[in-house]
Amino acid sequence: MECGCGARFQQYKWRKYKDTEDVVKGYACRNRVGNNTTKYRQANDLPLEGVCDRKSISEWHLELMIKDTLEEMWGFRKESVLKAFELIKDNFVDDDVDNSNRVKELESKIDKNKQKLNKLIDLYTEENIDKKEFNEKREQYTRLVKEAEGEIRVLVGGLGLAEKNLEMKLSRIKETLEQLVDFDTEKLEKDLINQLVDKVIVRGDCDFEWLLNLSDIETNDLFSFYLNEKYEIKRQKSTEIRDSKYTLAFSSVITIDRAREYRRKYGKHIKPRRWNDISYEVYVR
Ligand SMILES: [Zn+2]
Repeated sequence: MECGCGARFQQYKWRKYKDTEDVVKGYACRNRVGNNTTKYRQANDLPLEGVCDRKSISEWHLELMIKDTLEEMWGFRKESVLKAFELIKDNFVDDDVDNSNRVKELESKIDKNKQKLNKLIDLYTEENIDKKEFNEKREQYTRLVKEAEGEIRVLVGGLGLAEKNLEMKLSRIKETLEQLVDFDTEKLEKDLINQLVDKVIVRGDCDFEWLLNLSDIETNDLFSFYLNEKYEIKRQKSTEIRDSKYTLAFSSVITIDRAREYRRKYGKHIKPRRWNDISYEVYVR
């Protein structure tokens, strides 16, 4: 889980239920914990740059969001998730055009270097350059031609391959969704959540983004940042990855009624006066 400021969240024990002794877990932004809030920093004459005021998040808010998300996706949201992937497919066609421009560029590069090679042979046979220079230049032009030819092979072959991958991805998503339509939402398996949820970005105290992985069986980490990178950089990267690798499937809101219903089911309560609706967006890849 990541904060909109770029920092990660840390888990802590929020409080205990008096009757059951169950521990309520909460999550706090590491930046806020380490650097304190605007209010504190103002009071102590500390610089305010990069400060984060994100409130702590109760674990059950997250649980309810992912529960509803899965329910919606496997149920009546299934179609919108599939539509999101159709969008990716459409975008893919645009990339196709870009690649063909690059291929043209490379082809003209090959032509130019082949011409240079021919001229070079003339220069050498007319004894305008010595053998050493001839060999050097010949090596250089030949290398450029080979590199360009190699890149064309990757682009042309890669296109077909990427298209195939996309088809496979789409059918895998359809399969996953089909299988899970009947799945029991009473209890959510931790493994399932770990596999599905790439990242949660907390944009506001009641504003979340869920980045889900429906298509890749292998869990590869798209967000492998260097540990010592600045929050600012991490924040930018997360947004870039979100926009380039994921597609917005749907947005939803957890109202007080929904929250109350969910809490009652497990014999718990919410404090209505302190309740703010939680809105969240679900991105998929
Ligand atoms: Zn933060």
